[in-house]
Amino acid sequence: MTDICVQPHKDDHPALPALRLCAGCYYGLRGHIKALPRLHADLGGHLSAPAVVTTVSNGPRAAQDGDRDPLVIAETRSPINPAVAELRDQIRHDLVWWTVYVADQRGFKLPDNDLRQIGVWLWRQIDWIAASLPAAEECPPVMKALAGRARAILQPSGAKRIKIGPCREVLEDGPCGGTLYATCRAEDDPRPSAIYCGECDFEAGPESWRRFGRDYLKEAG
Ligand SMILES: [Zn+2]
Ligand SMILES: [Zn+2]
Repeated sequence: MTDICVQPHKDDHPALPALRLCAGCYYGLRGHIKALPRLHADLGGHLSAPAVVTTVSNGPRAAQDGDRDPLVIAETRSPINPAVAELRDQIRHDLVWWTVYVADQRGFKLPDNDLRQIGVWLWRQIDWIAASLPAAEECPPVMKALAGRARAILQPSGAKRIKIGPCREVLEDGPCGGTLYATCRAEDDPRPSAIYCGECDFEAGPESWRRFGRDYLKEAG
């Protein structure tokens, strides 16, 4: 049995004891599986496609002061954004697929058909996934890609992603080394902002910002 992480890395990353994944891949997988049911729910709020507005303005000459606003000749809004709907289906499909796979391999009963419960169930199986081939090879890139695509869709809605600095979560073999981001949502968006790591499962809500900021700056100083 090899003790090198089975995920592709430029150089060899030692696997965690009894696992096939290095600390970065292991904690990344935890973070992505933890986040996916919530990302799936958040994407539900982005299902309607943006309206496509066609206008006419002033004909061939350039606009001048005093011109009327352009006239809207068509405003079409398709009820469903197919890219978001497809990604939500894919998230559900892949979480369910891996849940059925692990339950089947281990002879466990399936959780209820609720994505949040499926996510919690699968999250508890991460040590088994990380210790088993081919699961340790195939599951992490799937979860990472899904979480990345979901976050890319969810960010632009007025939310800004601000790079904070290196993550200092201490994993088994040292600091995480991923990058911390803060999402600052638009003012009229009731959802809270968060600080999260792009690599491990670190996530802090707005209620812990003050304490987090103080500790973070203290460590940096
Ligand atoms: Zn790795
Ligand atoms: Zn981290």
